[in-house]
Amino acid sequence: MISVEEALAEILSHVRPLEPEPVPVLDAMGRVLAEEIISDINIPPFDNSAMDGYAVRAADVALASPETPVLLQVIGSVAAGYVSGAEVQPGAAIRIMTGAPLPAGATAVVPYEDTSDFDRPKEQRLVEPANQIEVRQPVQPRDHVRPAGEDVRLGELVMAPGRIIRPQEIGVLASLGRPNVLVHRQPRVAILATGDELLEIHEPLRPGKIRNSNEYTNAALVTRTGGVPLRLGIARDVKGDLVAKIRSGLEQGADLFLTSGGVSVGDYDVVKDVLGAEGEMQFWQVNMKPGKPLAFGLLAGGVPLIGLPGNPVSAMVSFEQFARPAILKMLGRSELAKPTVQAVLEEPLTNSGRRGFVRVIVSRDETGYHARTTGEQGSGVLTSMAKANGLAIVPEGTYRLEVGTTLPVQMLDWPEGTCA
Ligand code: AMP
Ligand code: MG
Repeated sequence: MISVEEALAEILSHVRPLEPEPVPVLDAMGRVLAEEIISDINIPPFDNSAMDGYAVRAADVALASPETPVLLQVIGSVAAGYVSGAEVQPGAAIRIMTGAPLPAGATAVVPYEDTSDFDRPKEQRLVEPANQIEVRQPVQPRDHVRPAGEDVRLGELVMAPGRIIRPQEIGVLASLGRPNVLVHRQPRVAILATGDELLEIHEPLRPGKIRNSNEYTNAALVTRTGGVPLRLGIARDVKGDLVAKIRSGLEQGADLFLTSGGVSVGDYDVVKDVLGAEGEMQFWQVNMKPGKPLAFGLLAGGVPLIGLPGNPVSAMVSFEQFARPAILKMLGRSELAKPTVQAVLEEPLTNSGRRGFVRVIVSRDETGYHARTTGEQGSGVLTSMAKANGLAIVPEGTYRLEVGTTLPVQMLDWPEGTCA
């Protein structure tokens, strides 16, 4: 048996970030930047007012106070989006709105609140702008002024490759005037279910048959992880069918294959034989439960294939441990670990001695995180996953854990990038 870490390290050693592709900036959400973003402008591009008020020469009002206000002549007004042609001479002021460029001659802005304008309602100010104002507080040069380049300087490296694009990065790219950006391509992940017992989900049940749930779980997991699922349907437990479907996936440009089933020791576990012939395959017994059997290999052209176990819970747990990090790496991400918290057990646990992935419900109170199991933990009991929001990790060699034990829990639904 190999450890979870050994299996993952082997898989990741064969997986590379996919090549960059240009996408419209809004489509870059959640993707990983694949270029240096160097600014060819200052942001803001010009000194501008941080307040609604008056652009002044700070020296004029350096001694202003409520008791000794300084009277200034108002020589004009400038709104955001416009440039004042006037220059602020000693003893003068220009009305200025937030975001408007600082007029020539001005060195600071006095907010309305610190002038006699504050005594007049806004409506009155609009109808009858003051010709003179009293300044009642001193300002220093640059007070209430946002200098050019305060946010981003011309020539600055604003974002390096590897940055995950969030709404704030999209805003920065927009302010830099970048309609498109280079990000790592999303992997196309071929999903293949195997088994003679499987029905399509719209088919009525027949004796001996069950519906194909793994394809759906896997497709949803791929989407959530940031990949693009390519559903190849059900391959029957005969060699030809599986080979044909794998070739079709390769033709459709799959970057990664996920199969489910057929990798354990049953009579009809043909995945093993077929894959052995289609590429270099390794069949592992991973020291974990659920999810002991796992296949990994490279198909024609070096396309990796992860053969997940068939049992629906095993398939999901193995996806989270092995396929998810592989997809994230292809996307160019560097943080591949599932967000994990430390939680205190609210009930005792028994364990097989392999690394256990126990479906739990995590709650939080003022003392921290707590975990209780979802009940029946069979590897076919998919509702145990549906009830769970976490996978508690029981270390190898442990057979029982008591109430009050603290153990790591992978949070199933926390968004990528969450810091626990
Ligand atoms: P296998 O490893 O192929 O023997 O499959 C192990 C168990 O998982 C069997 O009970 C299968 O019926 C079940 N199984 C395999 N594939 C699927 C699937 N796509 N959806 C639901 N159950 C499956
Ligand atoms: Mg099978």
